[in-house]
Amino acid sequence: MMTPQLKALTQQLKQRARDLGFDLVGIAPAGPAPQADAYARWLARGYHGAMGYLARPDAVAARAEVQQRLPNARSLVVLGISYATGALPELLAADPSRGRIASFAWGMDYHDLLKPRLYALDGWLRGRTGRTTPGKVSVDSAPVLERGWAQQAGIGFSGKNTCLIHPRLGSWLLLATLLVPEELEFDEPATLTTDVAAAAPIALLDIEQQTPRAPAWRFADGARGGCGGCTRCLADCPTQAFAAPFVLDARRCISYLTIELKGAIPRELRPRLGNWIFGCDVCQAVCPWNGRRCQTDAAKATALFAPRLDDLAPPLLDLIELDDAALRARFRRSPLLRAGPRGLLRNVCVALGNWGHPVAVPALARRLADPEPLLRSHAAWALGQMDDPAARLALARGWRTETDPDTRLEISLALDKSSKGAHAT
Ligand code: SF4
Ligand code: SF4
Repeated sequence: MMTPQLKALTQQLKQRARDLGFDLVGIAPAGPAPQADAYARWLARGYHGAMGYLARPDAVAARAEVQQRLPNARSLVVLGISYATGALPELLAADPSRGRIASFAWGMDYHDLLKPRLYALDGWLRGRTGRTTPGKVSVDSAPVLERGWAQQAGIGFSGKNTCLIHPRLGSWLLLATLLVPEELEFDEPATLTTDVAAAAPIALLDIEQQTPRAPAWRFADGARGGCGGCTRCLADCPTQAFAAPFVLDARRCISYLTIELKGAIPRELRPRLGNWIFGCDVCQAVCPWNGRRCQTDAAKATALFAPRLDDLAPPLLDLIELDDAALRARFRRSPLLRAGPRGLLRNVCVALGNWGHPVAVPALARRLADPEPLLRSHAAWALGQMDDPAARLALARGWRTETDPDTRLEISLALDKSSKGAHAT
């Protein structure tokens, strides 16, 4: 039974979370995860690509039922924090010689920022209740369906771009959760407004049941949310990664291709990556919920996330010259290392190919002799994008010494493309 003491404790916990820097906090009853069925269907369609850890039976079971992680759990505290520090200056955004980086990665690794705050929040609660065992924290590293839970805890709604959107703070949000045995006062999830009440929330994620207009949501404080007839994110996605509204095929998403994927980037998608070298912001940047109505506190986010000016859009020609150790030092404590030095350099090769400027030929030619076949093959592809005699010469030299079959194929395709370009001019 919800006693006045538990209500007061809940309010104090929420205030403590805000004091720790979180912008949003909601609480849901621990139990079966909302949207677990839709998640299972998403996995069944193979949209998770090479992220096999998502489909492991133990991880699927833990996602479906949070008490698998903490059997006596009663409450899931869901927290959101805005990382909206401001748009990239136009001069940098329009410069193809620079590598674009998703804005969540402009500062230090958010796991390092958020986890200590979650532990502090749990410690505060333990101090109040006398609990002697820790709660379970998660910052997208544990098997928790954060977005579904955030919707359940009343702190946002799912957009067609699959991001959690808050009616006043938009979607530049990082989510975190704290699972605890205390029964706290639960928040009301957003409800469907009456005109579209026939559409059950779960149907939002079901490809076969899409309706032309997405349902509108009403929050406990009277705020409204929903995508309505908007389709900007779907139309503007550079790789057309949405299989349907609310359904992302991660295998086509630039975030997956540049961060999660460890092998070769599919050849047909490389031109669509443009100069994104770590993640992509497009489907959030075009969203009206992140537009002028959005009330994020950029000064607060900037103070917390401290974007590093050198990391907003670094010159590609600087990055391509760095070796493993130099990259690790350059991006120490940055999320960029999640892609690994090898993955980052692979992405830089693709971005240089898409830039297509001959000034990049010497650096790419040196990568053609890299000990790592993945880099040699992507450097070959990039050289093939350049209609330049020096690029053709480098490829021809590479062909003479290359022994890796995949890289030989890339060189041969690149030579073919490059020489067709030469004949056309
Ligand atoms: Fe498309 Fe970029 Fe959004 Fe991925 S992050 S779905 S590539 S717009
Ligand atoms: Fe929804 Fe439009 Fe935002 Fe996409 S861009 S999430 S459709 S409001």
